[in-house]
Amino acid sequence: MSISQQPKVKSFETRLFINGKFVEASDGGTFDLSSPATGEKFASVSEATEADTNAAVAAAKAAFPAWSALAPSDRGTYFKKLAQLIRESHDELAELEALSMGRPVSMYFESFVTAESLEHYAETGYDAQGTTSLNTPGFVNITMRQPYGVVGAIIPWNVPILFLIGKCAPALITGNTVIVKSSEKAPLTSAKIATLVEKAGFPPGVINIIHGHGQVSGNVMSHHMDIRVISFTGSGRTGRLIQAAAAKSNLKNVILELGGKSPAIIFPDANIEKAVEQTKSSIHFNSGQVCMANTRIYVHESIAQKFIELFQKSFAQVNSGDPLLPTTTHGPQADEIQYKQIQSYIEEAKKVGKLALGAEPSDGKNGFFISPTLFLETPENARPMKEEIFGPVVHINTFRDEDEVVAKANDTEYGLYAAVYTKDISRALRMAKKLESGSVGVNCTSPTTAKDMPFGGYKASGIGREGWTVSLDNYLETKTVLISIDDE
Ligand code: NAD
Repeated sequence: MSISQQPKVKSFETRLFINGKFVEASDGGTFDLSSPATGEKFASVSEATEADTNAAVAAAKAAFPAWSALAPSDRGTYFKKLAQLIRESHDELAELEALSMGRPVSMYFESFVTAESLEHYAETGYDAQGTTSLNTPGFVNITMRQPYGVVGAIIPWNVPILFLIGKCAPALITGNTVIVKSSEKAPLTSAKIATLVEKAGFPPGVINIIHGHGQVSGNVMSHHMDIRVISFTGSGRTGRLIQAAAAKSNLKNVILELGGKSPAIIFPDANIEKAVEQTKSSIHFNSGQVCMANTRIYVHESIAQKFIELFQKSFAQVNSGDPLLPTTTHGPQADEIQYKQIQSYIEEAKKVGKLALGAEPSDGKNGFFISPTLFLETPENARPMKEEIFGPVVHINTFRDEDEVVAKANDTEYGLYAAVYTKDISRALRMAKKLESGSVGVNCTSPTTAKDMPFGGYKASGIGREGWTVSLDNYLETKTVLISIDDE
């Protein structure tokens, strides 16, 4: 596979954004980015050292008193400017993501979602309010909601700026200051956002954006004594390390959005064509690199043959190629590490399940492409049915009754998203109640979400929830003030 389309973006930011300035790493260190579509190196990005990470935290700490003292509407003014700049940068952001992690530009939407999110949060600062209680005789008691101080955000590579803004906006509007670490696999859109933060005129130190690997900068952040909340999206393995680091350091609050092994369940009375199209899109989008993708599909045995035929046909129809071309719908996997990991799961699944589609890798030299891959009859306890593959690989198994499918669906350590397709409302709600999952889609599946509904995981899929109505709470301390009233 060769890159046939030249990107319009000719130069891009690769430095750290600390205290309102773009700087190289203090030791001059960089890490390389290679195109997942061609394997060719195309950029070197500054790798934050321990000193750089500490400097970013110190800048955020110094900026906190003035930022938290602003009226929420004044903080919101910066948000509105940033939203506008992000909208104007749509094409550039799409190209930067295509270059670094292979997302087809035709599928890029994060600029619109993040701009809308900033516009929403710009108006929410006044919602940070406490309560009063007259229930203790002789007292008027109140609670105050106050920002924590410095918030850390560590984000993954699959939809980077969605997480960057999803974490920073509620933290900032409530008066906190932030340090963000981008993912080493896809730092360019975060670096671009840093240039827009500068243009929007945010005071220095309020938002600091650094780049680098888990070792050193991510680890320094999660152990840092001056970071009071850390919001993380990424793998369960890293989430556990961050939780342990928080416990070993200052017991900072930790919000974890982790992986999934999401089931979709199709009953005989479902709209089969709709269920096929939606479950296919769920596992196909972003080449399967989506935490909530339905990776296990359970179809009632009475409709299995029809469902599988339609699914196989639809899943095979992708336009694989250069992610910079507007006609491409299927890009490469993000990098060689992801590619090899997915291949190893495919090899293992081939030994125990029935390969029905795909498993035709590129040779690895010219890009990390994996075609849509479907397995049937994979044993429930096989590793590919239990672990997150994070690629365009789906398993379809059958079931006979509700109890059986609930047991299969819940037999995983994950619990991020489950989907049920049925026209029977009682069955749908029974299932919604029984499924161990942070979100349940009824006659819809992931990535269907709602901006004003909480998103997060049961079990090892995470701790805490994010979303327009709940995220402000993640970044506000609650202080109880007890006021004794003198007798007359
Ligand atoms: P990852 O855990 O490898 O990396 C995520 C981030 O953590 C990166 O910025 C990385 O540099 C950093 N990191 C790595 N080691 C660290 C350490 N020791 N200390 C601190 N930071 C460290 O995950 P990834 O590969 O970037 O993302 C894929 C994973 O993210 C998948 O498991 C996916 O399911 C999950 N994910 C979850 C959601 C959700 O909302 N639940 C959304 C998207 C992705």
